[in-house]
Amino acid sequence: MSFKSSSNTPMYFHSKTLIVPIISLLLILLSVSSSSSLKTTHSAFCNSWASSVENNNAGPWETIPAKCKSFVSDYMHGPRYIFDSEAVASYSLAYAKKAITGDVGNSTWIFDIDDTLLSNLPYYRSLRYGSDSFNQTSWDQWVEKVNAPPIPASLKLYNKLKKLGFKLVLLTGRFEEHRKLTEKNLKLAGYSSWKKLILRDGSDREKTAVVYKSEKRAMLESEGFKIRGNSGDQWSDLLGSPMAERSFKHPNPMYYTV
Ligand SMILES: [Mg+2]
Repeated sequence: MSFKSSSNTPMYFHSKTLIVPIISLLLILLSVSSSSSLKTTHSAFCNSWASSVENNNAGPWETIPAKCKSFVSDYMHGPRYIFDSEAVASYSLAYAKKAITGDVGNSTWIFDIDDTLLSNLPYYRSLRYGSDSFNQTSWDQWVEKVNAPPIPASLKLYNKLKKLGFKLVLLTGRFEEHRKLTEKNLKLAGYSSWKKLILRDGSDREKTAVVYKSEKRAMLESEGFKIRGNSGDQWSDLLGSPMAERSFKHPNPMYYTV
C-alpha cells in the first residue's frame, strides 16, 4: 500500500523511521531492567551470604564470593558497619553493667585486637575486601606501619568497661615479634591500661586460633581471672573451652580465621 502523507512522503517510510527508535528504546529499557534485576539478585544473594558467614553457618571459607566484592566494600565503608559495630558494643555494655554489680573482684573482659579493637580495613582494601587470600608478607608490612585506626564503637566500649572496673585482657593472634609495634599502635589508637597483652609465641605458631585462644583462657582462669565477657570478630576468638560467660561477635565479612 502506498498511502501519501501530507508531505507527500510515503507512509511506509515514516513507519520505518519510527520503528527503529522504538525498538532501540525497548532494548535500552530491557537492558536497564535486567541490569537492575541482576543487581537486586546480587544484593539479595550477598545479604544472605553475609548473614550465613556472620552466624558461622557457612563454616570455614577462603575468600568472599566474586560477585559480593562491591557489597562487602559498600558494607565496610557505609553506615551499616558502623551501626552493626555500635549494636554489638551496646549489647556488650548492657550485659557488662548487669554482670559487674556487686563485687568487681577479678571480673575480666577479653578483647581480640584485629578488626575488633583496631580496623584493618585499609589493608583489606588492598586484598579487594577479602576477594584475595591472606598474605603473611603483606600483612606483616601492614602491622609494621603501625597505622591501624581504632573502631570507634569498640574504643568507647573498651573505655566504659575500664571505668566499670573490668580487668581488660587483649588476646591476639599476632606474634610476639610484633609486641612493641602492637602496643604502640594500640596506644596511638587511644587504648590504654590493659592488664595483659597476650600474643602467640613460638610454641603457639602452628596452633589453630581456637586451640591457642582456648589455652590462653584456661591459663587466665587458672591465674584467677574471672572471664565475664569476650569480644572478637572471629568465631575462633570465642569458641572452645573454657568460654567466657558471654561472647560477643563483632561484624567482619572480609575473612574467616580458623
Ligand atoms: Mg580479629
